[in-house]
Amino acid sequence: MSRRIAIVGAGFAGLAAGVELARQGIAVDIFEASRTLGGRARKVDGDELVLDNGVHILSGAYRETLRLMHLVGAPRTGLLRLPLALEFPGEFRLQAPRLPAPLHLASALLTARGLAWSDKAAAVAFMRRMRQARFRLDSDTTVSTLLASQPEAARRFLWEPLCLAALNTLPERASAQVFLNVLRDSLAAKRAASDLLLPTIDLSSLLPIPAARYIETHGGRVELGRRVTRIQRTPTGFAIDEQGAYAQAVLAVAPQHLPALIGEFPELAALTRQVGSFVWEPIVTCYLAYPETVRLPQPMLAVLRGTAQWLFDRGQTHGQAGLIAAVISASRRQQDTAAEDLAREIDAEVRAVVPSLPTPRWQRIITERRATFACTPNLSRPQTPTAVPGLHLAGDYIAGDYPATIEGAVRSGTFAAQSVIDQFASDQV
Ligand SMILES: Cc1cc2nc3c(=O)[nH]c(=O)nc-3n(C[C@H](O)[C@H](O)[C@H](O)COP(=O)(O)OP(=O)(O)OC[C@H]3O[C@@H](n4cnc5c(N)ncnc54)[C@H](O)[C@@H]3O)c2cc1C
Repeated sequence: MSRRIAIVGAGFAGLAAGVELARQGIAVDIFEASRTLGGRARKVDGDELVLDNGVHILSGAYRETLRLMHLVGAPRTGLLRLPLALEFPGEFRLQAPRLPAPLHLASALLTARGLAWSDKAAAVAFMRRMRQARFRLDSDTTVSTLLASQPEAARRFLWEPLCLAALNTLPERASAQVFLNVLRDSLAAKRAASDLLLPTIDLSSLLPIPAARYIETHGGRVELGRRVTRIQRTPTGFAIDEQGAYAQAVLAVAPQHLPALIGEFPELAALTRQVGSFVWEPIVTCYLAYPETVRLPQPMLAVLRGTAQWLFDRGQTHGQAGLIAAVISASRRQQDTAAEDLAREIDAEVRAVVPSLPTPRWQRIITERRATFACTPNLSRPQTPTAVPGLHLAGDYIAGDYPATIEGAVRSGTFAAQSVIDQFASDQV
C-alpha cells in the first residue's frame, strides 16, 4: 500500500512537515497554489530589487526553525544575529550585553536609557514575578490587564512594542498567556534565545527554497502553481483533485482557505466553524528607496507616536543600500490609506531620524490584510489531527504556545509529520 503523503500548501508549515517526513524516509507530494514558495513569508520581485511581502524578524528562541534551516542546508549567512536591542531614537534605548542569563536581561533593563529607576525596578520585579509563576496565568486575560500595574514608560517603551512585534495584536486585545509564553522562551531563557535574527536574504531563500530542494532529493515532489480544489476519501486514503493515491494528507493552508478543502467531510463541520470565528490582523509594509548614501543609525529602529512602528535599513541587512522598509502592524486604518499619503507619512518619520533626507526614488507598499490571526485571550485553536483519520492540519494557527509566527508555523509542521507517523503506527496495530 502507498505510504506517499499529500501536503497542501508550501508555506513554512507545509514545508516543515514535508522536510520532517522526508527525513524519516516518507515521500511527500506538496501542492502550492502560488508560483513562489513561502506563503505569508515570501519574496516579492520588484522592478529593481527583490523585496519580501513583509519584513520578518526571527529570534534566538526559534529553535525548530533554526534546526530545520541547519538540516536542509539553508545559507548560514541568511540571518544576522544581534543581541536584543530596542531603540526609540532620542527617547529610549535598551541593549542586552553578552552576559549569561539572567544577568543579560537584568543588566539590559537596569542600564536602559529613557526609564526612571522606579520604572526599571518595576520591570525587573514584573519579570521576577512572572518567572516565579512559571509564566503561567490561572486564567487568560489581555496584555493591557496583565501590565496594568506597570509604569507608563515601561509599558510604552518595552512591553507594548514587544507585544505588538510578537503577537501582531494590540495589547488591549492580545492574549496575556501567549505574550508570557513568548517572554518565557526569549527574554527569560538563555541569552542566545533573546537575540534578534534579521534575515539578510529574501524570505523564500531563507528556508522554503532549500527545504523544497531537500524534499526533492529525498524522493518528494513540490508542485508550484497548483491550487488544490478537492480532497476526497478513497478506500486506501485520499485523492487530490481526483488524482493520486495518498495514504494520508496534511492541509497546511491558512485558516481562511481551509473550509473550501474540507467541505466533503461532514465530521469536520465544527472545524469549519472554529476557523470561521478567527479575526484577522493586517500588516502593511512600506518600502522607500532613497539614494544609496541614506542609512539608519541601526538596522532596526522603533518609532514612537508614528504611523509605522518599526523602520528597517535593508542596506544593513540585505545589501540594498538606501532602501528603508517601514512596518505598520495590526492597524486597520493604514490598510485603507492611499499609497501616496502613507508613503508621505512614512517619509516624514524617516526624516525625523535621518537629517537632510533626499526624496525617495521610488516607493512600494505591500498590504497583507490577513497577515496573522488576532491572538486574543482563550482563543480556541484546532489540534493537529482532525476527526478524519489520516487527515492532519499544519499552520501557524494550530493549537500551541506561539502566536502566528514562522516558529509557530514550523513547529506545527513538525507536529503534523509526527501525527502522520503516529497514524501509520496505529494502522499497523
Ligand atoms: C507582513 C507579515 C509580516 C510578518 N512578520 C513576522 C515576523 O516578523 N516574524 C514572524 O515570525 N512571523 C511573522 N509573520 C507571520 C508569518 O509569516 C506566518 O505566521 C507564517 O508565514 C505562516 O505560515 P503557514 O505555513 O502557517 O501559512 P502560509 O504562509 O499562509 O502558507 C499557506 C500556503 O498554502 C497555500 N495555499 C492556500 N490554499 C491552497 C490550495 N487550495 N492549494 C494549494 N496551496 C494553497 C498558500 O498559497 C500558502 O503558500 C508575518 C506575516 C506577514 C504577512
